[in-house]
Amino acid sequence: MAWVRVLISACFALSSLVLARENDAKLYLVSVKADTAQQRSQIADVGVALDGIFSDSVTFIGTDADINRVHQLGFALERTELPERMVDDFPSSDNAFHNYAETNAVLDQLVSQHPDIVSKHVIGQSVEGRDINGIRISSSAAVDALPTAIFIGCHHAREHLSVEVPLMLAQYLVAQYDSNPRVKEMVDTREIWVVPMLNPDGAEYDISSGSYKWWRKNRRQNSGSSYGVDLNRNYGKGFGGPGSSSSPNSDTYHGPSAFSEPETAAVRDFVRARNKTTVLLSFHTFSELVLWPWGHTEDLISDAKDRSVFETMGRKMASWNRYTPQKSSDLYVASGDTTDWAYDELKIFAFTFELSPSSLFGGGFYPGASAIQPTFTENLEPTLYLIENAADPYGVLNADVTDPLGIL
Ligand SMILES: [Zn+2]
Repeated sequence: MAWVRVLISACFALSSLVLARENDAKLYLVSVKADTAQQRSQIADVGVALDGIFSDSVTFIGTDADINRVHQLGFALERTELPERMVDDFPSSDNAFHNYAETNAVLDQLVSQHPDIVSKHVIGQSVEGRDINGIRISSSAAVDALPTAIFIGCHHAREHLSVEVPLMLAQYLVAQYDSNPRVKEMVDTREIWVVPMLNPDGAEYDISSGSYKWWRKNRRQNSGSSYGVDLNRNYGKGFGGPGSSSSPNSDTYHGPSAFSEPETAAVRDFVRARNKTTVLLSFHTFSELVLWPWGHTEDLISDAKDRSVFETMGRKMASWNRYTPQKSSDLYVASGDTTDWAYDELKIFAFTFELSPSSLFGGGFYPGASAIQPTFTENLEPTLYLIENAADPYGVLNADVTDPLGIL
């Protein structure tokens, strides 16, 4: 084990307990020396979910088996045991986060608050049979008739902040409709769909047993004690390619076939049916990034005009939230994600946001309740921009690139 330098950081040393998964594998925060996109892709390709990208290193959360696979590629790495994080539902300090029932209660509340513009819809069921709920916000009675923007949260279970931001966006739009002319214009001339918790089984599992489980995937039983498919590797474009794993135990297991999971099949069918959709945003955490296709290949999108729209919109949104804007595969190659599929099949301008914090050391997947409001606030203008430009995304190419909407 001389190749591994075990670091016990000051904050983690306080914990005497080590998290165990079903198979009792210990989990580690692993830091790997790597400074190019090629190296990052090589590491991601062994089936680990990279969640921290730095100038000279990357981090992921993984088991001894994951560490061995990366080590066999010849990379230098360091590991730190992850502590168990005791919770009861969400811990009291994190009570502001919404579990599945609370998320649904907010959606119901929005419907009752403004039934003329809000309706709730079940877009599918999870592996364990939970309803996957979405709401439609529009004053138009004609369904699928207006330019449509779709916001999705929580492909990944432990990314609880990715539920809160779209949920708050829905609350904001409904609350502002009567008094804010800009919001009224959006709701009157667009269909806005919010699906805040795509992976309810995983999100519930992550908080179900007295400790955060650092769980990422859905809750498909693969075989024996192996659970979970990575929903953001299960879409159709580039399925099974680099940066996704064929090993069921991997955190980036792509599943047996494209859209094998009811959650991704629900998104596919839902988005296909919303035939006026031009923009889509999938929220993840963390790293503070604005990402666009391709993810499954280092190639650029071949259509130069579309590429310019992605780049213009991505950089504009990043000017507000101060995240880093880039093509997804500039980070590392990852195959089978939402945005590659949505753009490839339906030519939707589909983005991924990796929300705050910027690193695991800023709280990672569990940044605390104090992160919710500022993360929503910094992402409000980007989401409104997407909604406004849903009518004609190509219009951003003609706008003043420094201030297309005159709102800075
Ligand atoms: Zn994610």
